[in-house]
Amino acid sequence: MNLRSLPDRKPFLTAALALVTLAALAAAAISAEPRAKDLFGAKKLPAVVPAQSFGFYSKGCFAGGVALPMDGPTWEVMRPSRNRRWGHPAMIALIEKLSRDAVADGWPGLLVGDVSQPRGGPMMTGHASHQIGLDADIWLTPMPKRPLTIAQRESMSATLMVDEKTHLVKDALWTPAHTRLLKRAASYPEVERILVNPGIKKELCDTVTGDRSWLRKIRPFWGHDYHFHMRIGCQPGSPGCKGQEATPADDGCGKPLAWWFTEEPWRPNKNPDAPKARDLMTMANLPKECQAVLAATDAPSLAAVTYQGGSAAAVAVAEPQPTEPTETISSGALPAQASAFAPTPKIGIPLPRPRPGN
Ligand SMILES: [Zn+2]
Repeated sequence: MNLRSLPDRKPFLTAALALVTLAALAAAAISAEPRAKDLFGAKKLPAVVPAQSFGFYSKGCFAGGVALPMDGPTWEVMRPSRNRRWGHPAMIALIEKLSRDAVADGWPGLLVGDVSQPRGGPMMTGHASHQIGLDADIWLTPMPKRPLTIAQRESMSATLMVDEKTHLVKDALWTPAHTRLLKRAASYPEVERILVNPGIKKELCDTVTGDRSWLRKIRPFWGHDYHFHMRIGCQPGSPGCKGQEATPADDGCGKPLAWWFTEEPWRPNKNPDAPKARDLMTMANLPKECQAVLAATDAPSLAAVTYQGGSAAAVAVAEPQPTEPTETISSGALPAQASAFAPTPKIGIPLPRPRPGN
C-alpha cells in the first residue's frame, strides 16, 4: 500500500509513530537504569566501616562485611570463584563456631557454600536472599579428609540427600551426624531459621526424640537438598535491618509439613519466564543507605577484611558511626506486574532456586 495515496491517514500514522517512539524511549530509559545486581556483583571488597545491615534478607545490602578465610582447621569454602564468602562479622564468627562445635559432635568439618557478596545486595545468579550478610549455606556433605584443591572446590558435586520423586530423604545417605549438625546449628540463639528440603524436615520430625524444641527453627522449603541455609536475626547496631516474623512455637511437624507431601507445592511454575526480582531491582528498590554502601572506598586489602577470630579484623576497631533511623529506608516503587515482587509469604524466604519444571 502506498501511504502517499492516503493523505487522510497520515496524521493518524504520525501520532501512532510518535506513541511508539515514546514507548521505545521509556523502555530505553528503564533499561538504562543500572541493575543493582550488576553494581553489587562488581564489588570485590567491602569498605572498612562498622558492620551494619540495611533492609531485608531479600532486599538490602550491608556494610562492614568480613570474609570467612578460605580454610580453617574445621571448614573449607566451596565455589570460591563466586566471591560470596562475605558476611556480617557475627555471621562469619558463627560459621566458624559451628564448624568447631560440629567437629566436637563428630562431623568432619564444614563445607561452606554461599554467604554474601562483599557488600551484599542482589546477586547475578542464584539466591533471592543472602543480601544483608545474615544468611549462609552449609553443605550436607562432610568435609573430606584430604584438603580440597581450589579446582576441586569449584567442581566437586554436592550430594543430593532427597529423592526427587518421593521427596523423602535417601536412607542410605542420611546419618545421625546430619541430624546432630542441624541440631547444633539450631541451638544458637542468634539463628532464627534453618531452611531444609521438606524431606529433611520430615526425617527430623520422624526420628528426633527427647528435646524437639529446636525443630521449630527447621523450616521446609524448595531446594535445600544438598545444603541447609542458616539465617541469623538482625544484629545490634543495625537499626535499618528489617527482621522477619518469628516462627510458630510448635515443632512444625503437623499440617504445614503435610502440605509439602501433596501435589500442590510441586506443580510446574505457570509463568517460568516471569522476571525475577534480581533482574529488575535497581538502586531505587533498595534502602537508600545502599547507595552509600556501594560508593564507599574499598578496604585497603583482602587481608584487612578477612575475619581473624574477631580480634584483628579491621571492622572490629572501627569507630561506631551515627545510624539513620529505620523509617528513612525506602523500598522504592516496584513494577506491579513482576510476580517476584509479591510480598514475602509467611512461610519465609523467596525461592532460592527454581521450582520443578521451571
Ligand atoms: Zn541459602
